[in-house]
Amino acid sequence: MAVQTVASTTDTANSVDLGPAAALSCRECGHRVPLGPVFACEECFGPLEIAYDFSAYDTEELRKRIEAGPANIWRYAPLLPVPADVATKPNLNPGWTKLVQADNLARELGVTGGLYVKDDSGNPTHSFKDRVVAQALEAARAFGFTTLSCSSTGNLAGAVGAAAARAGFRSCVFIPHDLEQGKIVMAAVYGGELVGIEGNYDDVNRFCSELIGDPAGEGWGFVNVNLRPYYAEGSKTLAYEICEQLGWRLPDQLVVPIASGSQLTKIDKGLQELIKLGLVEDKPYKIFGAQAEGCSPVSTAFKAGHDVVRPQKPNTIAKSLAIGNPADGPYVLDIARRTGGAVEDVTDAQVVEAIKLLARTEGIFAETAGGVTVGVTKKLIESGALDPSLTTVVLNTGDGLKTLDAVAGTGLTATIRPSLESFREAGLV
Ligand SMILES: *Cc1c(COP(=O)(O)O)cnc(C)c1O
Repeated sequence: MAVQTVASTTDTANSVDLGPAAALSCRECGHRVPLGPVFACEECFGPLEIAYDFSAYDTEELRKRIEAGPANIWRYAPLLPVPADVATKPNLNPGWTKLVQADNLARELGVTGGLYVKDDSGNPTHSFKDRVVAQALEAARAFGFTTLSCSSTGNLAGAVGAAAARAGFRSCVFIPHDLEQGKIVMAAVYGGELVGIEGNYDDVNRFCSELIGDPAGEGWGFVNVNLRPYYAEGSKTLAYEICEQLGWRLPDQLVVPIASGSQLTKIDKGLQELIKLGLVEDKPYKIFGAQAEGCSPVSTAFKAGHDVVRPQKPNTIAKSLAIGNPADGPYVLDIARRTGGAVEDVTDAQVVEAIKLLARTEGIFAETAGGVTVGVTKKLIESGALDPSLTTVVLNTGDGLKTLDAVAGTGLTATIRPSLESFREAGLV
């Protein structure tokens, strides 16, 4: 199968069944094309996204159908680009992760309006990436791809490897060669091809774009490149779950990490859909974006009042967020400004401090990306940008076991001989 970069209008109808997905539509100019493995508009090169037909849904019937669905993302299949029988196919069935009421952390940060941590470390490969890969896998099946691939900052590589193993696809994924050992092992263990590239994520991504146009990449579904419109929709499930877990209610404020910015933009899309479908009552909400100072192209642009995002060379321990040229950066700026939120960044030292704060108060061990969101939440409360009297949801998108080096200084309180005398001498009682 030849992989097209740009959509073609010569075919008029969809030849695949991806449930309520009706077409691909350009986010810039609105030009519509049939569903296919394409990601850029032929008219203006803007990003393509999924357009749906939800017109047949009755709100109360839809709510009942969702509530009776499985305890994973497929409960929202009527709102996703997947076939109706998706839950019967071999899949990792991610999602329906815990929304933890974080009262101890709230007390520590002075939040009185209710503070929740959406803990996506509970997914099958311990990061939020299982959500997006599950969508891309269905698109790959529909378009007849046999190899799954991606450019990754670490977590995506593991999610693709695992999903491919489960679904019987070949996988070949590309990462910067110098990632954390935990991320490399988690990506390699599922048995697919794992290729380290001498360069940073932006170099890896550029390489993958070249591979797509080359015969060497024929028949390959790159989950975050030529399948990106489908992949991206997986992040909507975070918005759906948060609202359903709050009792079909919108939170007032959300703090979301930014790598490419895709997750943040699709959380907003998911919230907007719930409002339009009548599943939640319409009210204002604010979305805050979180970055590490060592890779903060979006927060830098936000603070400077710019509409364009100037690329940076990443240098931070938050490697899963280390995208120096974020594709969805300008859309993140729009959403933060439209909703009255903000984009903020924290230093690596503040990331480590925040990882420990979350672990010590709530028993949740986050990877560096979770340190970024908790650290930014603290900073936004201190600056007054985030209102502590409102319901706030902070995302933890990955598991601390994958980034153990970040907290390497943490260890034994004391080493003693196996005797009471030695224990007393250690000064702990
Ligand atoms: C990929 C990733 C994100 C968000 O990525 P986007 O490209 O902004 O969608 C957040 N947290 C973790 C841990 C990730 O791996």
